[in-house]
Amino acid sequence: MTDKPRKPILLVDFDGVIHSYASGWRGADVIPDDPVDGAFQFLYCATSLFHVNVYSSRSSEPNGIEAMRQWFDYHAPKNPDAHLMTAHWWRTDLHFPREKPAAFLTIDDRCWCFEGAFPLPEDLLLFEPWNKRNRGDFQRCMVAPMAGDMVFIADETASVVVPRALIDRFVADPETRESR
Ligand SMILES: [Mg+2]
Repeated sequence: MTDKPRKPILLVDFDGVIHSYASGWRGADVIPDDPVDGAFQFLYCATSLFHVNVYSSRSSEPNGIEAMRQWFDYHAPKNPDAHLMTAHWWRTDLHFPREKPAAFLTIDDRCWCFEGAFPLPEDLLLFEPWNKRNRGDFQRCMVAPMAGDMVFIADETASVVVPRALIDRFVADPETRESR
């Protein structure tokens, strides 16, 4: 017999991804904040495809896993779609390993996705997680490089593909940026 999961492991960070972590670190078994919008809906759907592991630096601390389970017990039934979900699904379908497992994929608010090219270390010092960013107009956009030195930009309302040179000028020129 083997207890190897049949589904690929999806490792989901707890603080800053599931738990909003607005108050910051208060202790391994102190979890004061609300869920991130959509967290339960995502996790519930993800369990159908993945062996979902919720992992945190809390996981190896005394009472850390129990505190996360209790946080789910308190918050999950209150999510607006709870009536569409199997009762107490988080107790049976989410897994809380004590040690970080080898995962098919990881969702974390504090990581830099390696695409084959290393960043400048100093650029990493500028990293801000999604919920700490200065949410000005430009920062709210999703910006993705495309082939042919073009860049795809999108926000909640619109998307556009423009030459990279235009973005460089836009970022370099504070007056242009302020006039938007
Ligand atoms: Mg985190």
